[in-house]
Amino acid sequence: MKIGVPKEIKNNESRVAMTPAGVNELVKRGHEVLVQTEAGIGSGFSDADYQAVGASIESTIEDVYAKAEMIVKVKEPIAQEYGLVRKGQVVFTYFHFASSQPLTEAMIQSKAICIAYETVEDRNGALPLLTPMSEVAGRMAIQQGAKFLEKPVKGRGVLLGGVPGVAPGKVLVIGAGTVGIQAAKMAAGLGAHVTILDVNMDRLRYVNDVMPPHVVTEYSNEYNIRNHIKTHDLIIGGVLLKGAKAPRLITKDMLKTMRPGTVIVDVAVDQGGCVETTRPTTHEDPIFIIDDVVHYCVANMPGAVPHTSTVALTNVTLPYILRLADKGYEEALNQDPGLAKGLNIQAGKVVYEPIKEAFADQM
Ligand code: NAD
Repeated sequence: MKIGVPKEIKNNESRVAMTPAGVNELVKRGHEVLVQTEAGIGSGFSDADYQAVGASIESTIEDVYAKAEMIVKVKEPIAQEYGLVRKGQVVFTYFHFASSQPLTEAMIQSKAICIAYETVEDRNGALPLLTPMSEVAGRMAIQQGAKFLEKPVKGRGVLLGGVPGVAPGKVLVIGAGTVGIQAAKMAAGLGAHVTILDVNMDRLRYVNDVMPPHVVTEYSNEYNIRNHIKTHDLIIGGVLLKGAKAPRLITKDMLKTMRPGTVIVDVAVDQGGCVETTRPTTHEDPIFIIDDVVHYCVANMPGAVPHTSTVALTNVTLPYILRLADKGYEEALNQDPGLAKGLNIQAGKVVYEPIKEAFADQM
């Protein structure tokens, strides 16, 4: 099969859908990989790195789309790319259709086969192609939080690890899922005192089993949250209610009870955030301050570390890409019901129920 890897053209997107390691695997199996020139440069991979393992380098995005039977990407096609997607072409990427009617209509019109990373499921019904980005965001949350606790950027002026003779900083992690556990682990590693809250007792039991004793688990409820935000220096929002907006666990009035310079990193911003005052920010302008509380609410945190994020993402997408390439999409989907859950639009029709529901009135 001919597999195309275009350069991502969405604003500030430096990730790429395939590393030279992925090209190596595909070429070994007899596939042809067409990589747009400089597609990997933002993630630290040169054209020469791809050529060395057998990719052909294409000079334009048009060439990649025109020649490839399957396109692998990171972000959804943007308006400039809509006309390039061809009938019958498989496009495997993050689509998030429910948040864009123009994209959905364009892909219906293209009659392409759209398989979305975000709805592929594993045997347990989990979303394996979302997990690595939550892992990156969870770990980054502590790195960013530690930075914005510094005084010159209006933080409390607290060093998370403390020093001999000075107590460490206190980190409150709300949500003990992928983001929360990675955040807790990083904070604990720095020597901070960590409190982690969840409503799922199984998650709390797991955290309690695997984390060191200075990571304390507590049940998540309004009473505990109200008490802890008064004394913690850094608060990480990592809650998720599948398919719904994040619950508002810290309300505007609660900010007044927090100490000036407390930092909130609301990772759940992409689902609306778990803090009432959250609004999405960017890497260029990542924070805003309300009631002396620093809010960091960047909606695409992994974008700041494209090398790590690209490798983490392609580690989990490659096995699916190999199967799609080896067997063809129909057989690959037939043999793996979890991968079949990724099929969102096929030959001009929306086949994924939640997208049909999202646009029930409009389309
Ligand atoms: P997850 O499903 O692994 O974990 C979510 C956890 O929240 C679960 O353990 C759940 O029990 C818990 N929870 C639900 N309600 C709660 C409550 N009231 N109090 C405490 N805990 C509660 O999800 P995840 O992969 O860790 O993702 C968390 C959020 O981070 C999602 O909204 C995800 O989209 C977002 N995210 C954002 C970025 C970014 O760049 N900003 C990157 C990756 C993920």
